[in-house]
Amino acid sequence: MPLIKATAIVLRSRKWGDADRIVTFYSKERGKIGGVARGARRPKSRFGAALEPFSLCRLNLFEKAGDSLLRVSHVDLVRSSQKLRESLSLIDSAARMVNVVAAITPDGDPDPLLFDTLEQGLASLHESEDPAFTALLFQIRLLGVTGFRPQTDHCAACGKAHFVGEPQFSPLAGGLVCLSCAAHQRVRCIALSRGSLSFLQQAIRLDPTVVTRLRASGQVRGEVEAAIEGYVTVVAGKRLPSANFLSVAVSS
Ligand SMILES: [Zn+2]
Repeated sequence: MPLIKATAIVLRSRKWGDADRIVTFYSKERGKIGGVARGARRPKSRFGAALEPFSLCRLNLFEKAGDSLLRVSHVDLVRSSQKLRESLSLIDSAARMVNVVAAITPDGDPDPLLFDTLEQGLASLHESEDPAFTALLFQIRLLGVTGFRPQTDHCAACGKAHFVGEPQFSPLAGGLVCLSCAAHQRVRCIALSRGSLSFLQQAIRLDPTVVTRLRASGQVRGEVEAAIEGYVTVVAGKRLPSANFLSVAVSS
């Protein structure tokens, strides 16, 4: 059985059998993969805390004939997720990041840019004073790198370039729509103020190294959060689970 080496982020981890865990990873080399970690729930498990959600680790895995799940044989922890499990707001934001990635990526389809985006997103949460806002910026960037960049230059439904009145964001069309297209959307559109539109356009276009300098509060933040929440729900094809789905325990 060939050994597989991968650098990966733990998306979720659930109990399996008496002492095992089934872990879903997003790996740089293989995209989203699932693995069984035998004995991971034993008190002196060799895996330690390396398989907690949001951890960055290096894995040794091997395939087992007739089983789609890989076997996790060795884990080196590269960046612990302990800090991200210290408060509910950090857990919620980190969970949002990994849930969106889990929901919009197929199994076994590697995308190194997506991996780097998730890795940087979780890293930036470590420094964040506003985790929910960091998660919002992450989602806007993730939509861009996965081919779902929100359309803000012309009507996402009919292509018309000039808008009259307040911009309307359609989660179903994936961007701004003109007033006549907005009237025909099956999912309610979100009216964006000019300030919200400007913020969204900057968040899409700015380089990730400077986008964290963006700020939004009050109405602008509320509108952009509603637009991105609606669009991500459409892209993911479902409402995303809450943090407790991940088996995350607050660590402090
Ligand atoms: Zn239109």
